[in-house]
Amino acid sequence: MSAYLELQGIRKQFGNTNVLNHVDLQIHEGELVTLLGPSGCGKSTLLRCIAGLTDIDGGKIILEQKDIVNLAPRNREIGMVFQSYALFPNLTVSENIQYGMKMRGASKGERRNRSEELLALIDLEDKRDAYPRHLSGGQQQRVALARSLAVQPKVLLLDEPLSALDAKIRKNLRTEIRDIQRKFNMTTIFVTHDQEEALIISDRVCLMNKGSIVQQGTPEELYTTPRTEFVARFMGSYNVLTRPEALRLFQRVDSTAERFAIRPESFILLDEEGRKEALYAGKRIVDGNVHSVSILGNIIRYAIDTAGVRLTIDVLNDGRSHRIGDQTAVSLALDDSQLLHLEKEGA
Ligand code: ADP
Ligand code: MG
Repeated sequence: MSAYLELQGIRKQFGNTNVLNHVDLQIHEGELVTLLGPSGCGKSTLLRCIAGLTDIDGGKIILEQKDIVNLAPRNREIGMVFQSYALFPNLTVSENIQYGMKMRGASKGERRNRSEELLALIDLEDKRDAYPRHLSGGQQQRVALARSLAVQPKVLLLDEPLSALDAKIRKNLRTEIRDIQRKFNMTTIFVTHDQEEALIISDRVCLMNKGSIVQQGTPEELYTTPRTEFVARFMGSYNVLTRPEALRLFQRVDSTAERFAIRPESFILLDEEGRKEALYAGKRIVDGNVHSVSILGNIIRYAIDTAGVRLTIDVLNDGRSHRIGDQTAVSLALDDSQLLHLEKEGA
């Protein structure tokens, strides 16, 4: 399947700083791809380059087999929604939704029909004549979404559309966005710095760092097989171990890697009885001391000091937590596959 939207070697500098280093990305029709990464890594710049709001210094942007780099933003057939609801304050909800269509010369009847259809979709029919200031943040973002869909763009770009909203509204709206995106089979690039949001909403996640995509894959792939320390740290609460630390814990490792990662739920904390049983069964255990305890709802996250290595360990919350300072034992009778061998950054 050939790509619907393809970025080839996109470069951008601001002054002497490389903000985008030769970014390649292929997106299929109807796919929702997330650009995830820390603040300042170039996510917004990349979106703005695709929309034509920022000129690129090199590369190609190919939409349906056509390079659109030389097209003005309004001719690119790309819709964009920003973090802060950029609605026109002096236009009603329905006028906001119709604005782009009006600019393109759509008839009044066509505009009204489309606007009503979208109002129903975002469940704001009763607000059609309200002004943006009378809407909540979440409602304004839904209008912004409807407004960008009204002109039937080929690609929808969403730049942290949920970041300014409360946690609960954010969760509801991300589900709505995903439903609408699926319904329209809308090719979408979604930007966020929130790994949980990225994992939940995406077909595919591209993790960016310092102007490059450092790893991309399905949410599952990024979460379970980070290739570098940066990815492991960003995607979850992996324990990242140096080679000496891994050797201290596991005695031997089958790899020449210098860095290893292991998930916090890969360890087992043993009580006295469990410790005896594990020893009897010939499993390797290390003794530890509870450094901290955090209750995260249905799991408890411990920091346990063992063999000179502080491990993050998650266990199911069965209502019986250890306390700070408790002695405990950690079972390392692990399947080797749980110890991931990391590549050097940039490798
Ligand atoms: P993100 O959206 O991932 O937080 P941005 O794309 O906004 O990151 O910014 C990437 C880098 O480019 C940052 O270091 C930022 O300061 C810089 N930058 C962005 N826009 C401009 C600009 N118009 N002029 C100069 N530097 C900019
Ligand atoms: Mg940004």
